[in-house]
Amino acid sequence: MIFAESIGIERPTDLASRRPTLHIPTAVALTLSDLIEQARLAARSAVEYGGSLINPTVRLGITGLSRAGKTVFITALVHGLVRNGRFPVFEALSEGRIARARLAPQPDDAVPRFDYESHVRALVADRVWPESTRQISELRLVIAYQSRSGAMRELVLDMVDYPGEWLLDLPLLGKTFEVWSAETLEMSGRGPRARLARQWLAHLATLDAAGPADESAAIDAARLFTEYLAACRNERYAMSLLPPGRFLMPGDLAGSPALTFAPLDVAGDGTPPSGSLWAMMRRRYEAYKDVVVRPFFRDHFARLDRQIVLIDALAAFNAGPEAVSDLQDAFRSLLDCFEVGRRTFLSALLRPRADRILFAATKADHLHHTNHDRLEAILRRMVERAITRADVAGAAVDVIALSAVRATREAGVRRGGATLPCILGVPAAGEHSGSGNRTGSSGKMFDGKTEVAVFPGELPDDPDTLFAPGAVPFRGLTAASDEETDFRFVRFRPPPLETTGDDVPALPHIRLDRALQFLIGDRLI
Ligand code: GDP
Repeated sequence: MIFAESIGIERPTDLASRRPTLHIPTAVALTLSDLIEQARLAARSAVEYGGSLINPTVRLGITGLSRAGKTVFITALVHGLVRNGRFPVFEALSEGRIARARLAPQPDDAVPRFDYESHVRALVADRVWPESTRQISELRLVIAYQSRSGAMRELVLDMVDYPGEWLLDLPLLGKTFEVWSAETLEMSGRGPRARLARQWLAHLATLDAAGPADESAAIDAARLFTEYLAACRNERYAMSLLPPGRFLMPGDLAGSPALTFAPLDVAGDGTPPSGSLWAMMRRRYEAYKDVVVRPFFRDHFARLDRQIVLIDALAAFNAGPEAVSDLQDAFRSLLDCFEVGRRTFLSALLRPRADRILFAATKADHLHHTNHDRLEAILRRMVERAITRADVAGAAVDVIALSAVRATREAGVRRGGATLPCILGVPAAGEHSGSGNRTGSSGKMFDGKTEVAVFPGELPDDPDTLFAPGAVPFRGLTAASDEETDFRFVRFRPPPLETTGDDVPALPHIRLDRALQFLIGDRLI
C-alpha cells in the first residue's frame, strides 16, 4: 500500500535570505561574579584533568531539541557497545579490540541516572519508543579495550543527556531583559508565529509596564507566553528557536516562580520605575539567568569533551520552509554557544572545552537510503557557516545523517510505470496515513500491527535548490493540507528482534558506528 505520493521539492524556497537574529555580543565587561566563576571553573578543570590522567575519561554531551532522538540514541549506543553490535566503521570494535563494555556508577551524585534498563525494555521487549528526555541525566560506560600496541586499557565514557532547549538559553546571558523582550516580540511577528502569538500579544497590549507590579498579570502573561511557545513547537509548525528553554522543558522547575515572567513592550534602552511590573519582570529574568542558565553551563556544558547535537530535520521538512529556516537560525544560535573566540565574554566565563562536535540528523530510516546522503548534504549546508567558525575555535566539526534504531526496511514499489523508492515498517498504533496523527485528517488509522510501504518524498539532490535566493517554497503542514505536503513521515514502531533464548542481538541502525568513530574512535587506539 502506498499512501504518500509526494514527488519531491518542486518549488524550493529562498531560505538564505532570512538572517540570524540571536547572537552573543562580543564585548561585555566581566563582573566580579564572572571572575569568580572563571576561577571555580579553572580549579575544577585542573582536578578533572588530574583524574582523567589516571582513568582516561571522555565526557560526551548528547543534546538536541525535544523529541530529536536523544533517549533513543544513548540507549541504542550503549546497547550496541554492550552487545557487540554490527559497527563496521567503529574501528576498535570491528578490529576486535574491545574486550568488554559495562555500566558503572556515574561520577555526579546530584544528577539523575539515565534510565537505560527501562529504555531498553521498552525498545526491545515492548517494541515501543522509550520515554523522552525531560531533564539532564547521566550514564557511565567503561570500555575495556586493547590498544593498537597490544596493552589492555580502559576508557571511561560519561554520557550527559540534556535538553537542547537549555543550551539555546546561553545567548540570554549576553542580553538585558529589554533587548530580549524586543527580539522576542519582533520574532513573534514573523511567519506562522504571528498567528500563534495572537492571544499572548492581546494580553500584552492590556499591560501597563510602568504601572505597579501585579502578580496575577505576571502569571497570566507567563502562561500565555508559554502557550505561544508550545504552539510554535507543535508538529505542524516545528519551530526550533524558542527561548527561554525552561518554559518548554522546565525539568525540576515546573511551576516554579523562576518561570513567572514574560517579555514586555518596553524601550530597549529604558530603565523601569521602581515597584513597577517592568521592574518585577526584569528582576525575574535576571534571576533566571543567575539561578538557571549560569549554573547549567558551568556545571554541565563547560565540562564536556565531546558533543553530539541531534536534529530532527525531517520534522522541519514535514512542517515546511518556515520551520527549516527557523532551524537554521537555531543552528546559528547553537554554534554561538560553541564558538569560543577569545574576545567573547561567554568564552571567558564558560570556556567550553568540547574539541569534537557532531551534528546528526536523526531518524534517517524514515527515508530510503538513496536520500541519506542528501539529508546529510542539507544538514551540512545548514551548519556550513557555523562549521567554519567552530573550526576557528579549534574544534573538529562533522555532520551525519543517522538512525540510532532502524525501524524500517526498503522496497521499490511500482506505480504508474515508475518504481518508487519506498520504506516498509509498522506504523505505531494511532498513527494516521494523512501525514501524522492529527485529529480531523482524512486517511487510515493504523493498528500498530500491519506493515505498510510508504513513499516519504524525495529530498533535493542539490541542497542549494532549497537555499538559493529566489527559490520557491516546498509545501509543508504549516501551509498546506495533509494531502498536499511534499514530505510525509510516519512514526513507525521499533523493529522486531530475532532473539535466541536469553540472547538479544543489538538493534539495527544506520551510521551509528560512524558517529561513534568520530566521537570516541581516536581515544581507543
Ligand atoms: P528526545 O526527546 O530527544 O529524548 O527524543 P527520543 O529519543 O525520545 O525520540 C523521540 C521520538 O523520535 C521517539 O519516540 C521515536 O518515535 C522517534 N525516534 C527517535 N530516534 C529514532 C530512530 O532512530 N528511528 C526512528 N524510526 N524513530 C526514532
